[in-house]
Amino acid sequence: MSNTDPGCIFCRIVAGQIPSTQVYRDDRALVFNDIHPVAPFHMLVVPIKHITFLAAAPEATEPVLGHLLRVAATVASQKGIEAAGYRLVVNQGPNAGQEVDHLHVHVIGGRRLGRLG
Ligand code: AMP
Ligand code: ZN
Repeated sequence: MSNTDPGCIFCRIVAGQIPSTQVYRDDRALVFNDIHPVAPFHMLVVPIKHITFLAAAPEATEPVLGHLLRVAATVASQKGIEAAGYRLVVNQGPNAGQEVDHLHVHVIGGRRLGRLG
């Protein structure tokens, strides 16, 4: 796993080369608003280091994978959507519609969400 991929749009956001509306950042994770929100709150939690997708994440990435979920919960709480509830989504591969090959957790909330499927 290389730390960054110069051709990756989310690596370029992490590096500040592409603008984003940053919500949270620490040494392992960045959260920014999705450019095409599907709900009043739609944020993306991404690892600072380039990980292509969940299915390619080696065992050594388990701590950062867990960190992404905890950060998702933290920003949801900070945004005030915890009590009403929200949804986390990781799209894996074509059938899920994964567009960006840099692992990301969608945090979606602020309205009643439909059933999955
Ligand atoms: P996915 O289908 O899971 O790969 O989701 C990729 C998400 O990235 C989509 O919801 C896009 O709207 C979002 N996205 C793509 N480019 C940007 C960008 N420059 N800034 C913020 N969000 C983006
Ligand atoms: Zn990347």
